[in-house]
Amino acid sequence: MVPPGELSVPPRLLMGPGPITVDPRVLRAMSAQLVGQFDPFMTATMNETMALYREVFRTANEQTFLVDGTSRAGIEAALVSLLEPGDRVLVPVFGRFGALLTEIAARCGAEVHTVEVPWGEVVRAEAVEEAVVRVRPKLVAVVQGDTSTTMCQPLAELGEICRRHDVLLYCDATASLGGNPFETDAWGIDVVTAGLQKCLGGPSGSAPITLSPRAAALIEGRTHVEAGIRADDDADRGTRIASNYLDLAQIMEYWGPRRLNHHTEAATMLYAARECARLLVEEGLDAAVARHDLHGRAMLAGVGGLGLQVFGDVAHKMTNVVAVHIPDGVPGEGVREALLTDFGIEIGTSFGPLHGRVWRIGTMGFNARRDAVLTTLAALEQVLRSYGVRVTGGGGVGAAREVYAS
Ligand SMILES: *Cc1c(COP(=O)(O)O)cnc(C)c1O
Repeated sequence: MVPPGELSVPPRLLMGPGPITVDPRVLRAMSAQLVGQFDPFMTATMNETMALYREVFRTANEQTFLVDGTSRAGIEAALVSLLEPGDRVLVPVFGRFGALLTEIAARCGAEVHTVEVPWGEVVRAEAVEEAVVRVRPKLVAVVQGDTSTTMCQPLAELGEICRRHDVLLYCDATASLGGNPFETDAWGIDVVTAGLQKCLGGPSGSAPITLSPRAAALIEGRTHVEAGIRADDDADRGTRIASNYLDLAQIMEYWGPRRLNHHTEAATMLYAARECARLLVEEGLDAAVARHDLHGRAMLAGVGGLGLQVFGDVAHKMTNVVAVHIPDGVPGEGVREALLTDFGIEIGTSFGPLHGRVWRIGTMGFNARRDAVLTTLAALEQVLRSYGVRVTGGGGVGAAREVYAS
C-alpha cells in the first residue's frame, strides 16, 4: 500500500463532556523517552505519582496508584477485586454511569440492588440509608458526577451512612475530580477511581485509584500470585479475583516495594498522569475547583443569555458541564456539526432518555478558561441564528462577561 501521510490532527476546541483538549504541558510530558520497567527513575516516578494522587484524592491512603486503561478499567478493577459472586451491592443510579456500575457489578456475579431517581436529579441520602438497611450490602457503589445528566451526587452523608452500617463505599469520580470538591478521607470513601480526560486535563488511558486500608486488606485477602512469577511462600488466599489484568491484589504488589512483575506499566500514560496531578497540585486543588466553578458559572449564565433552557437540578449540577435543552425544531446534530466544521468546536449530545434532547457543554481541565467559554458562546450564537433561532445579539457572551466582571 501507499501509506497515508504523517498524522495531521485538525485544531479543535473540545467543549463537550470529555475528552477535552489536553494541556500542552501534559502532551510534552508524554513525548519523553522511556526507561526500563524497573529503572530507578521509573520506580521513583511511580512513587512520585502515588504521592501526587494522594494530594489530588485528599487521602493518606498508602494504596494510591494508577490502573492502566481508561476510567472504565479503574471501575472494573475496583469492582472485580472487591466483589465476589453472590455479594450484595447497592448502586444509587441517577444516569448512564450508575447504570454502568450495575452492569459491571452484575458481571462480577454480584447481586445488584439499585436506588433510582429520574435523570436530572440526585439521590437523597435517606433513600440510600433505607436501602442499606433493607439490602445489607457489602458495598455501595456510586458515581459522584454523572456526565450523562451533569448531576453531582453529595457524598459526605453517604460516607457517614456506610461507616455507620459497616458497608464499603466505592465512588467513580472520573468526571468530577479536580473540578468539584472531593474528600476521600474526610467523607469516608473506601475506594475512588478516576480518569484523566475530564477536569485533570489529560488524555484518556490511565485510571488513578485510591483504596482505604480496610479495602486494601480485603483485596489482599484475595491474593493469588500468578503462575510463573510466584515465590515458594506465595500462598493462595481467599477467592481468586476473576480478572488477571485488573487484579488489584497483584497490581498493588507491582506498585509496592515487591515490584511484582505483573503488567508493563504504560510509561507514557504514567508521565501524563504524573503531569496532570503535578499541575493540579501546583495550582492548588481549591484553586482548581474555584476555576472550574467560575468558568462553569460563566457558561451557565451564557447559555441562559442565549435564551436556552438548562436541564436538570441546577443546584446539584457539576461545576464543569452544563446540559441545555435543544430548542424545538432545531436539529441538534446539525448544530453540533456546524460548530465543528465552521468553528472547530466540539460540544456533546447525550445518551438514553436524553439522546437528541440536550446538548452538553463542558468547561473543564485545560478548557476551563475564559477565552474558551466566550469563543464557544459566540460561535453557538451564530450557529443558532443560522437555524433561525431568535437569540439576543451578544446575549451569551454578555452574560458570561458579567460573571467574569463580578
Ligand atoms: C466520562 C466518564 C467515564 C469515562 O470512562 P472511560 O472508560 O474513560 O471512557 C467514566 N465514568 C464517568 C462518571 C464519566 O463521566
